[in-house]
Amino acid sequence: MLVKTMVLNAEVVRKDFPILQRTVHGKRLIYLDSAATSQKPKCVIDAEREFYERYNANVHRGAYLIAEEATSAYEAAREKIAKFINAPSKDCIVFTRGTTEAINLVAYSWGWANLREGDEILLTEMEHHSNIVPWQLIAQRTGAKIKVVPITDDGLLDLDEFERLLTERVKIVAVTHVSNVLGTINPVQEICSKAHEVGAIVLVDGAQAAPHLPIDVQAIGCDFYALSGHKMCGPTGSGVLYGRKDLLESMPPFLGGGEMIRTVTFEKTTFNDLPYKFEAGTPPIAQAIGLGVAVDYLTKIGMGRIRAHEIELVAYALERLKEIDGITIYGFAPPEQRGGVVAFNIGEIHPHDLATFLDAHGICIRAGHHCAQPLMRRFDVAATARASFYLYNTQEEIDALVEALEKAEKFFGR
Ligand code: PLP
Repeated sequence: MLVKTMVLNAEVVRKDFPILQRTVHGKRLIYLDSAATSQKPKCVIDAEREFYERYNANVHRGAYLIAEEATSAYEAAREKIAKFINAPSKDCIVFTRGTTEAINLVAYSWGWANLREGDEILLTEMEHHSNIVPWQLIAQRTGAKIKVVPITDDGLLDLDEFERLLTERVKIVAVTHVSNVLGTINPVQEICSKAHEVGAIVLVDGAQAAPHLPIDVQAIGCDFYALSGHKMCGPTGSGVLYGRKDLLESMPPFLGGGEMIRTVTFEKTTFNDLPYKFEAGTPPIAQAIGLGVAVDYLTKIGMGRIRAHEIELVAYALERLKEIDGITIYGFAPPEQRGGVVAFNIGEIHPHDLATFLDAHGICIRAGHHCAQPLMRRFDVAATARASFYLYNTQEEIDALVEALEKAEKFFGR
């Protein structure tokens, strides 16, 4: 048994999340699907409501008080996010709807302008579809080729293969910081420095990392970093692309429309400064402001403490889950080298059946391919169950998960 020395008091944290006070099917809600989207603390919900109740107006347009209030709250959120990931300037922070849109922005804007036939895009076998499909679409248009770094049976990136595939043909490496299935934390700093040696740039998919680890984009040395606000206590429809300023400046716009321009005639358009060049149309204003408040919330609790709490939770979950007969856990990275995610199957029980059974016990887990079909194929499975943890989860919830899984095993007659 692990000693219960929580560095963070999740019982206190839970009080900040109204949804965690509700019941489902007459049972206390146990939410173990934060890798899909996190729950939202009351301060974030209040911030969105306050925006609509008190100063709802478009940003960067109106000359009246509430428009100025909206603009300054929106820009303050950008400052907070820059500080949260240690970006050198708020001009390097582009608001998007999430990681998917951030990666598409880079693929279409940078990729379209820079990739040619004979160039290579280096991905890994553990990528989410969001970091595969945009590159395929751009490869089809430019003639560039996709190469894939394999993973080991332990669920780690095969770094020898990475070095072998990293030739001067590679123009961009697009890699996830933390796998949404295996939980593996990839050595992104090392990947960036090796890629730079051959003249390639690196996009890091931080969807599963930014909510859980302290992030310093300058220390990582990445050229782009994408994240989803809704996975880090922020509203849905909020996300961020961090980009190196010189790269963003050299890139053509992704979407055209209002606000991203300086002058427009029917013959020619000139574009706005960073980051507005990449924020065409009315942005997700309330969502960005809510994300700023989420960042304040996480910062106040401390990303180091959140990380330490999740290491304890994952270590405990791995230990308890291994008690279940016939369980297969995917990925053997030790708790210190993985995020708060555990994917598993139990014998021949279909993960969707497991998830439905657990739902009846008030427990929410994810079942399916987790938008990582190539990774599923690597492990020769169609789907897995996945429990994922965040700052508000407790060891008692993991006990409840294990107890319900043991019941499921009996129910499905293993
Ligand atoms: N990348 C990873 C590793 C993810 O886990 C996810 C979502 O689960 C995404 C990208 C896509 O994020 P979003 O749906 O917020 O755009």
